[in-house]
Amino acid sequence: MKTRILFSFTESVIPPRCRKSRLVTRNDGEVDVEITELSSEQAPVAIRASGTTLTRDLAFAYDLRWWGGQLWTPVSLDSNGEPRGRTSGQDNCDWPALPEVLDLRQGGRNQCYTYEFYSTFGSNPREEVEAEIQAFAKRHVVIDGIPHRVAPEPRYVVMTFGLGSNHGGTAVMVDSHFNSNIRTESYFGLLELEAALAYATKIAEERRDTKNLPMQYHGTKFDVLMPEVVTVRNPLVQKSQLFCEFGTAPEQALAGYRLTGTVVGTEEELLQRYESKDVRLVRSPGGPDEDGKHQFGLMVMQPVRQMRCACCGGSTRGRQWHNQDTGWGLCTSCVDYCKPRFQNGEFERTYGARGVHFDIPA
Ligand SMILES: [Zn+2]
Repeated sequence: MKTRILFSFTESVIPPRCRKSRLVTRNDGEVDVEITELSSEQAPVAIRASGTTLTRDLAFAYDLRWWGGQLWTPVSLDSNGEPRGRTSGQDNCDWPALPEVLDLRQGGRNQCYTYEFYSTFGSNPREEVEAEIQAFAKRHVVIDGIPHRVAPEPRYVVMTFGLGSNHGGTAVMVDSHFNSNIRTESYFGLLELEAALAYATKIAEERRDTKNLPMQYHGTKFDVLMPEVVTVRNPLVQKSQLFCEFGTAPEQALAGYRLTGTVVGTEEELLQRYESKDVRLVRSPGGPDEDGKHQFGLMVMQPVRQMRCACCGGSTRGRQWHNQDTGWGLCTSCVDYCKPRFQNGEFERTYGARGVHFDIPA
């Protein structure tokens, strides 16, 4: 979809009979931009949000879709994930479609509240304004005919109010951005609500905010359909998941991880190195050396792939188990045949865990 955008810009001009240049505002800027049109298959639903508004008890629901590495919302949102009217006191939450011609010119300055374009006072050369307009166009898409705009990833934050001892309180809330005044340990991703509640409980107990216990979450409900799009992760949760105690390797193996080697480093170094990877680091016996470095067994999540069945030779999907040759597993139809032929956990030792290494849900 094409939209023509009219804009103002400034130019440095030397008027006739003058020697010094000065800034002149021109109002005849014009540029065509392309607004991406997508189908709902191209931009699948990543997060389904629902709830009731805090102030008026109105039910709401909307979907955040995923396309081009970003989340897209069909409605104007408050930072707590509730739809918010675009004009004060009204329920016009849906984004309006971009018109064929959008006039940004507001008395020599480019400004448009309805479509969220804001520029600065002072010098705005044509090339800079055009670049801003192209970036602006990338923040809008149309999915199945419905205008969408880029949405920040919702996250949970543990907040405290007042002096403690029920003077204020402790709560788990939603926010759309990080606030640099709040420490990162207080933020939790959409997949970490349990951990957020546990952390808030600990804080409330320490502050003696007893009226907030047991801790509950009352905000917008988020169903994550595409867990891979969630990027906000709590550093403490991440650390506790990444580093595993000595002796837990068999447990991790049954969860789909496979020992691939050892790594040495301080916890900080390793946390940074493996931040975005699905791995587990199992502590070796003994403490750190004099530089604070530990040795860990590196266990990597095995991908689901095409395997051959070790029982019938058929083709199946599964994860590699360390007691099977590479590329070999167990097919779903052989599970019930093979299982009674093993005793005392021998079946698990041979083929791994059901649902993880074989008989994987589609
Ligand atoms: Zn088989």
